[in-house]
Amino acid sequence: MVQGGLIERLAPSLSAGGLLIGAEIGPRYYTDVAGRVGTLPQAVFRPRSTAEVSRILANCHAEGVPVVIQGGMTGLVCGALPRVNEIVISLERMNRIEAIDAKSATAIVEAGVALQTVQERVETLGLTFPLDLGARGSATIGGNIATNAGGNRVIRYGMMRELVLGLEVVLADGTVIESLRKYFKNNTGFDVKQYFIGSEGTLGVITRAVLRLFPLPAQRAVACCSLSSFANVIGLLDLMRHRLGGELTAFEVMWHSYFGRATALAHVKPVLPADRAFYVIVEVCGVDADSSHDRFESLLAQAHEAALIDNAVIAKSEAEAASIWRIRDASAEVHAAIRPAISLDVSLAIDRMEEFAARADQVAQAVDQASCIVVFGHLGDGNLHVSVHHPEDRPEIGRELEERIYDLVAAYGGSISAEHGIGISKRPYLGHSRTKAEIALMRAIKKAVDPKGILNPGRIFEIDA
Ligand SMILES: Cc1cc2nc3c(=O)[nH]c(=O)nc-3n(C[C@H](O)[C@H](O)[C@H](O)COP(=O)(O)OP(=O)(O)OC[C@H]3O[C@@H](n4cnc5c(N)ncnc54)[C@H](O)[C@@H]3O)c2cc1C
Repeated sequence: MVQGGLIERLAPSLSAGGLLIGAEIGPRYYTDVAGRVGTLPQAVFRPRSTAEVSRILANCHAEGVPVVIQGGMTGLVCGALPRVNEIVISLERMNRIEAIDAKSATAIVEAGVALQTVQERVETLGLTFPLDLGARGSATIGGNIATNAGGNRVIRYGMMRELVLGLEVVLADGTVIESLRKYFKNNTGFDVKQYFIGSEGTLGVITRAVLRLFPLPAQRAVACCSLSSFANVIGLLDLMRHRLGGELTAFEVMWHSYFGRATALAHVKPVLPADRAFYVIVEVCGVDADSSHDRFESLLAQAHEAALIDNAVIAKSEAEAASIWRIRDASAEVHAAIRPAISLDVSLAIDRMEEFAARADQVAQAVDQASCIVVFGHLGDGNLHVSVHHPEDRPEIGRELEERIYDLVAAYGGSISAEHGIGISKRPYLGHSRTKAEIALMRAIKKAVDPKGILNPGRIFEIDA
């Protein structure tokens, strides 16, 4: 229970609609995109300004009230789901794009703005914000920063870490750290903003950010290719990287197990027969409309002649390109369709991926003979997503699968979380991918900025009592 009349004390100082209590709190504040349900919180604070966030936190800090921070609730590791006794701070009403500066190619936005809103607004000015992921319509910039989101274009533009120039953050005690700089280079001591990027809300509430923008490419070409072997997938990536350089913006791989299901679930006309072992979506963005497209077409022809690809289709319109991308974006539908299932997001060296996927399949079948695995991912970034269906619907089966496959990831020298973060779900396995000394340093940083441990407690690691 929230003690000491915190809610009553804060309520008058908040803008209208800034506080929800009791029946006003709808399921969206305790249910995430995957349908997982947390605890019904006692209060939901919906600040409209940084000053309001600061006031709320200063009071929570004074009384030791734990807080969970919420963006679009699309995170996949239960980080934003309320736990017992936590109150919610939702950034949903801090959703303004404050300024777009074409000259410095930057945008200053509030943390609660949806990724897609930013993408669409900057495009009207001939610019692009290149972070892109399936949850773009609901995921917020604050959530993207807190989870250091990756997505489809990391191969060209990097993860969120590379796309943020400045941040404004409110610490647990209400202190506002304003570091909204619009330039890239700043070697004046620690790069403080990087502590908060990827910290999953454990170190501060991100309230505003300066984002890096890029020129909107004059031309975008998207192709879907089918391939018979993983060696060919690597060969195609190598060819595209060498010949396209910075114009290669996405290289997404789908195992046969994913492609067939996703094509059906995305309700798109099949782009290629689903009879090959691997499928790849290649996206190329160029500054010169004609030459980029021609070069891409001739490269695919070369890949076909060299027997790297069996078949390919190049989108002839934006609608066709969108159809191809819908297949890749149907990951949530594919996962839902094979429930009960666990979902893993791992990093591995590219040359170990095929063997890893085959071993993961064996491991899964050893746990549950009727299980099957579905694999796809951002190949160019060394990132695979693996969903494992286990027909026997018992939580302990899911846990055993997780344990054994994460052990396998560690044995292959990989990371148990490539881009979704640790949250609550992956906490038991943090030690598979981080050393004791690294975890001790993370704990020390947490203790220094949030000594009472009120911010997103228990996310990433348990804090000391
Ligand atoms: C269909 C689908 C596809 C996806 N594809 C990708 C992908 O390709 N790549 C990828 O990286 N991720 C992907 N994701 C997951 C991704 O992490 C989230 O979509 C997104 O980055 C989280 O944003 P959100 O606003 O929904 O955050 P939430 O889910 O609300 O929160 C996520 C975490 O961030 C914290 N947080 C949220 N806002 C703030 C803030 N302002 N300050 C401090 N902490 C905050 C929360 O407490 C929580 O710990 C996908 C998710 C879905 C459903």
